This record gives sequence, structure tokens and C-alpha cells, in this order.
Amino acid sequence: MKITFCGAAETVTGSCHLIEVDGLRILLDCGFFQGGRERRDMNRDPFPFDPKSIDYVLLSHAHLDHCGRLPLLLQQGFKGRILCTAPTADIAKLILADSAGLQMKEAEYRARKAKRRGEIAEPPLYDIDDVMCTVDRFRPIPGYDEPVDLGSGVMARFHDAGHILGSAAIELQTSNGNVLFSGDLGNRHQPIVKDPCVPPKADVLLIESTYGDRAHKSMEDTLEEFRSAIHAVIPNNGNLLIPSFALERTQEVLYELFKLWKSKELPRCRIFLDSPLAISTTKVFARYREYYDKEGQAVFSGDPNPFKFTPLRFTQTTEESKEINRASRGNIIIAGSGMCTGGRMIHHLRHNLWHADSGILFVGYQAVGTRGRNIVDGADTINIWGEEIAVRAKVWTTNGFSSHADQPILLDWIRQARPEHLFLVHGEDDTLDAFSHHIRDQLSLSAHIAKLGETVNL
Ligand code: ZN
Repeated sequence: MKITFCGAAETVTGSCHLIEVDGLRILLDCGFFQGGRERRDMNRDPFPFDPKSIDYVLLSHAHLDHCGRLPLLLQQGFKGRILCTAPTADIAKLILADSAGLQMKEAEYRARKAKRRGEIAEPPLYDIDDVMCTVDRFRPIPGYDEPVDLGSGVMARFHDAGHILGSAAIELQTSNGNVLFSGDLGNRHQPIVKDPCVPPKADVLLIESTYGDRAHKSMEDTLEEFRSAIHAVIPNNGNLLIPSFALERTQEVLYELFKLWKSKELPRCRIFLDSPLAISTTKVFARYREYYDKEGQAVFSGDPNPFKFTPLRFTQTTEESKEINRASRGNIIIAGSGMCTGGRMIHHLRHNLWHADSGILFVGYQAVGTRGRNIVDGADTINIWGEEIAVRAKVWTTNGFSSHADQPILLDWIRQARPEHLFLVHGEDDTLDAFSHHIRDQLSLSAHIAKLGETVNL
């Protein structure tokens, strides 16, 4: 068996690993490199293998850093099928279409600028047509834990990774032993999705390491912060902005807001979900209740439920979105992007940031250099479209919402899988080092930190 690491090696994006076994060439994920310009440019590099030679892609979940290079694989000749769970197929379609739309917009902007310099700008990596061709190759698997015959004696099984709706850890049973790829593993006690599964025994384990060096804070503190933000802002007629990622985090926020509303702890207000992508992903969530955990299924079995209760409004069109700030105040506005780098949240910041009675509640990680991070770090003003806007609104950050496993969960997983060969992927340098030391000290196992482009023979 040969394994080649083609992404998410010594970094957290671009997940892609090639397994060559029993005459098959199987790609685990084909994700986008994200981050600064240099990282994004890596998406233009040719694949370190011939896409025509790949038999299958097994897709762990629908985040862009796991599925975002699939259209490029097709452009370059991939003829096989893409296997994933049914929710992953539906959500990946939305995520890839959104990515193509953004790339086309950016390419248009670059083309206009280049034209003025008498140059030709780079085209988008892919467009909507490429996404549609990619989506045609998706073959949803029957369900978690069911064997899928890949031919040549290789069986695949998708296990619930508990990270986002439809997410999977992928097991390959081969003549060379069991290979297990964790995909992204979820946190315990996340709303809606189940906890990560107990892994099967694995001879070879590729495990994500995003939070391999730390333990998460408790959810109780986070919910307390959540409640205090609402009670400090809404009764004083301020707007509370919640910048949120469209997939999973938005649905979790709606879930918590619904619980507050149901227990009559939510002051009178309207809740606007002001993101077309988040509205679409929420509709996919609503179609797959059988994938929820027990509590989620119970909460969603009724009407009202977290996606349909009195204060909640979905604002699809730009006109409806603009109306939000013209209408009454004292509302909750959930919009993207999660780090305030773009999307409709920018308009809401421009309208609300300078109001001392407004508030911003961050429910996700804020990367260095983003507007979101600058606000969290206490900037006096924020630049929006060339205008400096004063930051007078109150700011809250919650750290407990996380859809990633932390160190104790990852260590448990490795302990349960009992691998002979352990590879760490999907982590930043310092985290990988710290995590590999913990694994050695606590499990007496040696972990290999995968390098980009490296091939190992087992
Ligand atoms: Zn993910």
C-alpha cells in the first residue's frame, strides 16, 4: 500500500490523500487550500498525480477545504465517482456553487483592473458549469456503517464523524489491512449532530489534528455569554449582530436561540437569518432529521422548531436585507461571513458598529488580519469600503461553540482505533508537534507528521 499526502499536511486546509492499494487509486477528499494569497495560489498547482488514473474520490464532508478542488480534478480528466453521504452531496453542491460564484466575481474585478494596465488577468479556477459537472459524479452511499464495494476486494465504510451534518470518517478494508481516515472529527455534545463514533480497529490511521494541543472550554460558559449578550442589547433597543459561518454554526445558533425562546428567556425581538447560503444549508439540514442526535430529533419533531419559530425571518433578497436596518431596532441579525471579511455582515457592521447600544457576538474563531479579529482585539475603528467606522458597540466572544474534537477526544479516538501506523494531518506546525509529543507520552505510540507531497510505502 502507498499513501501520498497531497494537502492538509502541516496545515489545516487542502485536505487530499491518495491511497494506492489492491490495484485501486483512491483519493480521500480533494479540498481547497485557504488562507492568504500564497495558500490560495496552491490551488492552481497541478495535482501530484494524474487525475485520469483515480478510480474513486471518497469525500469526508462538505467543507470547502475538503471538497473545493473537486471541480479541478474533473477539469483535469478524472472519470470516476465521488462517494459521500447524502447530506454531504447536497451541501457540497451549495458550497461549491458559492465558491464558484465568489471566484467569478473576483476574476471579473481582477480582469477590469488588468485591462487598465493592458494585461490579462487569471481566470477563475472554475465556474458554475464545472460545479454542475462535479455534482453529477456524486454517488450518495446508502448510509453510515454500510459496506460499499469498491471492487478488487476493497470495501469502504463511512462512519459518523459528528463534525457537521453528513460528515464521515472513512474506513477502507483492504488486503493490506484496515485504513481509517478521520476526516474532521466533531466535538462531544454539539447541538444537532451526534457525537463522533467509536472508531473501528485500524492498522493505519490518518487523523486530523486541528485542536491536538488543547482542550475546549465548557459549553455552559458559552451559553451564559450568549444569554448575557442578548439581555444587554435587545431590551435597550440595540441590534445584536452574530457573524456566523453558513454551515453548522448558523444552525447551532438557531438551535440555542430557539431553546431560549421556548423557555421564555428571549426578550421580544425578531431574528433575521440574512444569508442566502445559510438559508440554503438550513433547508438541507431540515431534510435530514434522521442524521440528528436524539435530543435534536426530539427538538425538531415539533412545530415550532429551531428552523421555524415566531421571531425567525429568512431574508433571501438584497431588498429584504436592506429593509432590516430601515425597520425597527432591537433585533438579532445572523449573517456571513463568520470573520466579517465579506458578505452581508459588512452592511450590518456599517449600520450598527458605531451605535453604543448595539452589540456583536462572535461565535467562531477569528483569524489574525480579519475585521472580526480586529474588533475582538479592541480596535477603535474599522475600515469598511474606505470609510473608518467607530467601534462603539459592545463585543462578546464565545469560545465553546466548536465543531472540532479537542485533544482528549482525539486521544480517545487513537486509543480506540489502536493503529500500527499513525499519521497526523490537518494541523498547524506547532499543534502537530505538541500533539505528537502528547501521543508519545500518553499512548506510547509514535506518530508521523505527514509532509506535503510525501509518499509512504506500508
Ligand atoms: Zn470540516
